[in-house]
Amino acid sequence: MSERTVRDGTPASPGIVIGPARVLAWERPKVPHQTLEPDELNSEIERFREALEATRLRILEIQAETAERLGRVEAQIFEPQLMMLQDSDLVGDVESYITENRISAARALELRVLEFQSQFRQTGHPMVLDRLNDLLDVETRLVRKLLGVGDPDGVLHGIERPVVIVARDLTPSITVQLEPDRVLGLATDAGTRTSHSAILARALGIPAVVGLGDLSTQVESGDEVVLDGRAGRVILHPTDQERRVYRERDIQVREWEQELVLLAHLDPVTPDRQPVQLRANIDMPGEAATARELGAQGIGLFRTEFLVVGRRVLPEEEYQYQAYREAAEAFPHHAVVIRSFDLGGDKFPLFLNMPAEENPMLGWRAIRLCLDMPELFRTHVRAMLRATVHGDVRIMLPLISDVREIRQARKILEEEEDRLNEDGIAFNPGYKLGVMIETPAAALMAAELTRYADFFSIGSNDLTQYTLAVDRNNARLASRFTPFHPAVVELLQRTARAGRHAGIEVSVCGEMAGNPLGVYLLLGLGITAFSVAPSALPEIKKVVRSIPAGDARAHVEKALEASDSASITAILTEGISQWLDLSLFSGRWNLSPQE
Ligand code: PEP
Ligand code: MG
Repeated sequence: MSERTVRDGTPASPGIVIGPARVLAWERPKVPHQTLEPDELNSEIERFREALEATRLRILEIQAETAERLGRVEAQIFEPQLMMLQDSDLVGDVESYITENRISAARALELRVLEFQSQFRQTGHPMVLDRLNDLLDVETRLVRKLLGVGDPDGVLHGIERPVVIVARDLTPSITVQLEPDRVLGLATDAGTRTSHSAILARALGIPAVVGLGDLSTQVESGDEVVLDGRAGRVILHPTDQERRVYRERDIQVREWEQELVLLAHLDPVTPDRQPVQLRANIDMPGEAATARELGAQGIGLFRTEFLVVGRRVLPEEEYQYQAYREAAEAFPHHAVVIRSFDLGGDKFPLFLNMPAEENPMLGWRAIRLCLDMPELFRTHVRAMLRATVHGDVRIMLPLISDVREIRQARKILEEEEDRLNEDGIAFNPGYKLGVMIETPAAALMAAELTRYADFFSIGSNDLTQYTLAVDRNNARLASRFTPFHPAVVELLQRTARAGRHAGIEVSVCGEMAGNPLGVYLLLGLGITAFSVAPSALPEIKKVVRSIPAGDARAHVEKALEASDSASITAILTEGISQWLDLSLFSGRWNLSPQE
């Protein structure tokens, strides 16, 4: 029998369950190496095309079933897979690999997918990494078809009693076929919170924890497990005491979730009547409507680069304008902050042919790239300006480190405003232009920058990364990446003070604003505008409505005296725990360096 083990992974779908494990051992089958004769090449390509078509039909079938079972939006999850099956970069190259290297279709596909995977991984960007999950799905189906070993759906046969599925990884098309009355929970070694499998698990209401390392090799079918999808923990062979604790926690969490739903329509105001602006961060215009339903008061960060990442040509002005307009129209009475392209660094559109850089995060990115590429920037600027007629649409510049960058950007904006006037195209000349404070240089010069900006939004992710010289995407350094470091806190304080003196809004749109301790600290520094991922809105509203701003100020004063991040975290944790039970929050609520 395997040993008692406690494993922490990434919480992917909330809910607490206790039950027997069922290990799903499925793999993409091994592809034998095989050299083809020249006269076999055409028929091999033909076989590949047949496999593509059969896979396409099967995915369409699963997509239709998903639409019926979960809804149209969830069914869209299979679109990237359908696109991959037609992507000339994938499909076309597999065909040329077959002819040029005289290898089987399965082998050629395997090689091409390996290249894709390494390209995806190089970007390091979570959204691109999530696509690995879709790629695995398509590849598994195609390879199995080519090797004649039957489709992967068979792994689900024989699940008769409620089990917790433990697997190396799960694909979206397998996940969507799971029956919630027979699958209590999911625990996978690989995976991300935002992969399509995780999204489907949430849609099905199946609790899930992903990124559990090698857990699947430690578990045997039938072993008892506790799975806490809110905290991201799995316990193999729990003790009686643990079973009791988790049953109780389950009841508490359910009550908490019911309470959060009711908050969507209440104002974000602290118990001592400090009003707060609570906005949402979005990547795609369609998310604006979801954010509104969850109670957002506008969009605090529209990451526009996702409209262009992965594209072969720069999207034209009209396409961009329609996207910005959609977001603006979801919030006719609230601010919608559109950030100009934050390209480079970890986000590369294909059309830029970005040169490889030794230090891309310190390289040609964001405002630097836009100012150097007038054609790209001017098209983008015109689209954003045109959207300003649809409400309180504001424009925000990322990665500012020098006032010259704001001056140059403003000059381009003014020139494009003149051109729009000449062309008789409407925009709102009173729109606000703000800057992100996400470099130490900008934070140190915050007082000076208030002369050039109508508002500040602190990008705490980059501000932390650049202040501490800790790569935000490096898992090995994760414990060192904390906004509660005294140096970061000092820069936050400096920025807040500069904004207050100048009478301009200072908000925070980095991850810190989606974290209870972060909100406590920021409120204590006098910052009262936050922008968070839509899913974090209910919990952050709960935080705001639970902690008096006066109490946050008193604790933050103490925290400002501390000389290391562990002490600051401890002071904040002690303070906030008077008002909230932190264990009820989802995810990594505590960014303490010890975690
Ligand atoms: C940040 O840096 O905190 C931020 C909000 O911008 P992004 O995460 O898109 O870099
Ligand atoms: Mg940033």
